[in-house]
Amino acid sequence: MSEEKLKIERIKKGTVIDHVESGYALTILNLTGLDESPNLMTIGVNVNSKKFGKKDIIKIENVFLTEVQMQQISILSPNATISLIEDYKVIEKKRVKLPKIIKKLIVCTNRTCITNSREEPIDYEFNVLQEKPLRIQCVYCDRIYRLDEIIFATKRKKENKFLKQIIEL
Ligand SMILES: [Zn+2]
Repeated sequence: MSEEKLKIERIKKGTVIDHVESGYALTILNLTGLDESPNLMTIGVNVNSKKFGKKDIIKIENVFLTEVQMQQISILSPNATISLIEDYKVIEKKRVKLPKIIKKLIVCTNRTCITNSREEPIDYEFNVLQEKPLRIQCVYCDRIYRLDEIIFATKRKKENKFLKQIIEL
């Protein structure tokens, strides 16, 4: 076993997200909502990697990612690999892939965009203009977003709920 692997403890059951773009581990945890999980997480930032120079690694015990979370990771870190662990062994390994068109996952924050219309809201849809650094464009209003401007629809839902609670108080 290489020295690099020894630095990060093995997990018995759960998910390992490897080959994450270096410096992106915390962004991924935050944007996917995984940071709200009560399970044990081990995060390696700027781990030496033969393939990519430096990378981040995220290990989460007892958690298997949802399809939506995997799609979110594909947008944030298209080189990531996701391994499912049972009894300390990798039972499945998946590579994420950045799609050319991103549907429903990301919110367009342009208030006048048709996707935010109160009468007939339609599903968000973005074209991927550039993978690295990421640039995506809303199909409906043409607004362009960079990685640090992305808001996932799952997060928006939670914020709206929170806002509603405050108003009700
Ligand atoms: Zn738009």
